[in-house]
Amino acid sequence: MENSFEKIVSFCKRRGFVFPSSDIYGGLGGFYDFGPLGVELKKNIKDSWWRAMVQRREDVVGLDSSIIMNPNIWKASGHTETFSDPLSECKKCHKRFRSDHLEDPKKCPECGGEMMEPRNFNLMFKTFIGPVEDSTAIAYLRPETAQGIFVNYKNIVDTQRMKLPFGIAQIGKAFRNEITPGNFIFRTREFEQMELEYFVKPGTEDKIFEDWIKERMRWYTEELGIKPENLRVRRQEKDELAHYAKGCVDIEYRFPIGWSEIEGIASRADFDLTQHQKFSGQDLTYFEDDTKEKYIPYVIEPSCGVERTILAVLCDAYEEIEGGRTTTTESVKEKETLLRINKKLAPIKVAILPLVKNKPDITNKAREVYGMLKQNFACSYDEVGAIGRRYRRHDEIGTPFAVTIDFDTLEKNDVTLRNRDTMQQERINIQDLTQRIKKEIYEN
Ligand code: ATP
Repeated sequence: MENSFEKIVSFCKRRGFVFPSSDIYGGLGGFYDFGPLGVELKKNIKDSWWRAMVQRREDVVGLDSSIIMNPNIWKASGHTETFSDPLSECKKCHKRFRSDHLEDPKKCPECGGEMMEPRNFNLMFKTFIGPVEDSTAIAYLRPETAQGIFVNYKNIVDTQRMKLPFGIAQIGKAFRNEITPGNFIFRTREFEQMELEYFVKPGTEDKIFEDWIKERMRWYTEELGIKPENLRVRRQEKDELAHYAKGCVDIEYRFPIGWSEIEGIASRADFDLTQHQKFSGQDLTYFEDDTKEKYIPYVIEPSCGVERTILAVLCDAYEEIEGGRTTTTESVKEKETLLRINKKLAPIKVAILPLVKNKPDITNKAREVYGMLKQNFACSYDEVGAIGRRYRRHDEIGTPFAVTIDFDTLEKNDVTLRNRDTMQQERINIQDLTQRIKKEIYEN
């Protein structure tokens, strides 16, 4: 069954993945908070990206640059001039909309009133540095993490002995004063990006660009476990490309709202470094030892949004099963919600469940098992309600394993290990538990 967006939104709030920001004050448009489960999922996704893009690669190093930077950077990058969307205002109700999102650019979609001529609205959030709020103190919250990488290019070449081709990766917050945020966490005003700038020798960029498209699709399908049929690569047409760009593709996910971008991969030639060389007055050319050539490297940029990835992962994994599932040991008669999320990404890996809560022998033993497992995994100790209900609660949030401690445990030192996807239950000795769960999560 197709999932509706509303189902995912209400699931996220109900189970503590995502809350509207400033909720008790009525919220704040375009801002969200990640709850106890959301923060774990977000961290697991960022860790997966970092492992794939930095840790497992010899040719990429990481960076964490500041959010507020010298405002000249945004002049050099073109953001001060051109990082804007066309804004239309209704003459009658004065509501504002993105002109390019309007079906009829002349009529207000809310009240049918006449629209004013569109004007360009810069999406950067402004702030002031220091105590005086005048024009010399203006600074911006970064609208992308990429520029922090370009302005550190020289530092990294000078200190890390990097040889082309090499990359610099960064995960961090970005801010855009979107005219119409919406579709839950798909378009927000504060979000996180995972960006890589991969510097290459001019002439080699086309093949490397194609290689990165393949590698990024591999990450979504193999590392995050997103179904391949829900992902596609859309190549931007020549007239969609920025004037300096050599090529650009969007990786799109089939959301309940339709195919939409989760990542952009751009072949940006030497535009960024050339601009920063010009505006900073610093030499940003690369010297190739072997050939004694000097040039400004080209760059390939895979840039992906954390929140959109989270949303794709949740949409992909969420299942409602009318009438529930049945196996030899369990049978559920009512509708079941199941999050068949990749085990590595699951916010909680193991639920520890004492069969009963009023027998100290059992709860003490269960606490002992919990104490052991939480050294290695995100765990949840849960003794409230019938055991079947507790399994269901954990299926819903995607917990891949449940460990049940019962009367036999006290005699044999073994527990029931239950698998979320198969609902299979098996007895396993407590001393083998950690190794077994590790193997199931990280080696399969
Ligand atoms: P869109 O066309 O949807 O506004 P974009 O093409 O401007 O996105 P990029 O500048 O290429 O986006 O940013 C790279 C990635 O950052 C996007 O693929 C997306 O995942 C994420 N991103 C951009 N804007 C937002 C936003 N307002 N909210 C959440 N994520 C965003």
